[in-house]
Amino acid sequence: MTLPKKVEYRYFDREVETLSVEELHVLQLERLQSALARADQNECYHRKFQEQGLSPTDLRYLEDLQRFPFTTKEDILTNYPTGLMACAPVDVVRYHMSSGTTGKPKVIPYTPQDIKTWAQLMARTLAAVGITAEDVVQNCYGYGLFTGGLGFHYGAEALGATVIPSGAGSTERQIQTMLDMGTTVITCTPSYAIHLGETLQARGIQPQDLRVRIGHHGAEPWTEQIRQRIEALWGFAGKGGGAYDIYGLSEMCGPGVATECQAQEGLHLWADHFIPEIIEPQSGEPLRPGERGELVLTSITREAMPLIRYRTGDITSILPEPCPCGRTHPRMERIAGRADDMLIIRGVNVFPSQIEHVLMERAELASAYLIVVDRRQAMVELSVQVEPQVGTTLSEDFQAHLERVLQTKLGLRCTAEIKQAGELPRFEGKAKRVQMIE
Ligand SMILES: [Zn+2]
Repeated sequence: MTLPKKVEYRYFDREVETLSVEELHVLQLERLQSALARADQNECYHRKFQEQGLSPTDLRYLEDLQRFPFTTKEDILTNYPTGLMACAPVDVVRYHMSSGTTGKPKVIPYTPQDIKTWAQLMARTLAAVGITAEDVVQNCYGYGLFTGGLGFHYGAEALGATVIPSGAGSTERQIQTMLDMGTTVITCTPSYAIHLGETLQARGIQPQDLRVRIGHHGAEPWTEQIRQRIEALWGFAGKGGGAYDIYGLSEMCGPGVATECQAQEGLHLWADHFIPEIIEPQSGEPLRPGERGELVLTSITREAMPLIRYRTGDITSILPEPCPCGRTHPRMERIAGRADDMLIIRGVNVFPSQIEHVLMERAELASAYLIVVDRRQAMVELSVQVEPQVGTTLSEDFQAHLERVLQTKLGLRCTAEIKQAGELPRFEGKAKRVQMIE
């Protein structure tokens, strides 16, 4: 993307964001050593390290991190609720919880310093997409145990912006609020940005009737095609803004681990707080820059629960080239999917995002879709339910054509089912795009 000349890349803390790679490594090493020492105070970590014959003082170079064992979701869950905590309960000022698909949630504790660090990281993250103290941020992420609401809230306040904590849902109220309050930034999942945008369109509200110029979207993987749709629906480009991807997970703090900058060419991962590695998911072997695999993160400034080599389950790669914005923190490509979300259909690996990519290339299709995996027979069947844009009639051979394209792109047979406009579900929070029939 070429930015108009008048747009200057914005920074929150230019000095930290543009440290030389060597300076960044010195800082990482120092912080990693103290994170390991802190983790070692936890009984479970201490045992894990001992089993490998390791102690925190064995880490003398950054590369030594690879000798330490991984931490997994199961480690957090088997030590439910707070067995991995590295501080006294009295030092905790907040717990968030991240609901899994089954059973107990992951409990994430924060010390006062953890909350401060997170707010500063989020302020930096928001500034990276061009948000300033002048902005009015309507925060449509859910408030509560989920980290989205409070993460954006504290970050926007730390930046000095005006926050409207409108929370998830209540689309009519959201629209009235943005009209009345002159909202300039919306923060929500990409699927809700589409739903809100379509509702505005249906109400005859034009982008120029609104001041919204930036959308900051995360909590689910999304594609470049969805970005283009959001930007067109909201008319962001004409206002010098855009729709930007943000990445985080509650185990690390919440949102604010990585974000796109105004260049929209990958997400800067804040390496003064998190050390990234990319591994081959099956073998655990490290992969090189540019190679796609599972993201592993070590939190090096967390006090309440530092996690060492935490397997995120998210599939991405580290982009080797420097970013035009001047930030030196490494960039990752947008998340292709979660290792857990990968569908294995008749021996072929398929990420839902690959299907979304094919569907959203077709301008005549609406943004809502549903992937159905039918496992009732020995031969697993994959079908995709789509619907036309409002007021669009699909050609007679559209279905057959779409099936051919899907087969070519995915490398397996897939049925397309055409629904009526508006028939498929819309989402106010995280979208559920895959339905399993067992
Ligand atoms: Zn950049």
